Amino acid sequence: MIIREWEDKPHYRGAREQLVKEIENQGIKDPNVLEAIKTLPRHFFVNISYADRAYENRPLPIDKDQTISQPYTVAFQTELLMPVKGKKVLEIGTGSGYQAAVLAFLGAEVHTIERHKELYVETSELLQQEKLLEFFPVHPKIYCYYGDGYKGIPDEAPFDRIIITAAIKEIPQTLFDQLGENGLLVAPVGDNYQIMTKFTKKKGKIKEETFGTFLFVPMIKGTE
Ligand code: SAH
Repeated sequence: MIIREWEDKPHYRGAREQLVKEIENQGIKDPNVLEAIKTLPRHFFVNISYADRAYENRPLPIDKDQTISQPYTVAFQTELLMPVKGKKVLEIGTGSGYQAAVLAFLGAEVHTIERHKELYVETSELLQQEKLLEFFPVHPKIYCYYGDGYKGIPDEAPFDRIIITAAIKEIPQTLFDQLGENGLLVAPVGDNYQIMTKFTKKKGKIKEETFGTFLFVPMIKGTE
């Protein structure tokens, strides 16, 4: 069970500003993305034992041997998906819920799916916590689902954006089918290491652009 630190101490706020400077130096430019990272209390998304490390630019462990992605990675994937305001977004791999929160902060309607029952339960609870909701400019739209992301969420398709936050070897056609016209899908594609890839759907055809190398936990079929 996860225990959280619900206070936003001044040194956390200072650390967030430091973190934003760091990811700006790494090349993240979008002012809204930087604002989201500067505002959201990442330490709410990890166990209290990691709260003091929540503003290091690193991934951290969460339950079930999974990780909360590195802030730079969250910012990078988010920037590739922009603009997201008013867009319907499918996130595969809810994990801690931090990436979903960043997208919702930016005004997206986020549908996020997780294959681990316990993570799904813990994170859906977190995302309804009044203490967290206070950090958003408007009430965030985040809908959590328990299930296998390889299948997407057919009942909610089409999506304007799809973001995959676990390493995937190949994008299944099902997910391209759930992407709307002019939609974007961003995913770390690969096995031992992954290439961040942005897919764009235009007139039903998929165009592909690649970015840097990243390391994610694997996307696994089925639920637990
Ligand atoms: N977006 C998360 C990153 C979590 S790590 C965050 O901001 O914290 C990746 C997550 O993907 C893990 O929680 C893992 O359980 C989940 N995952 C892996 N395979 C999946 C699948 N087939 N369907 C849904 N979620 C999956």
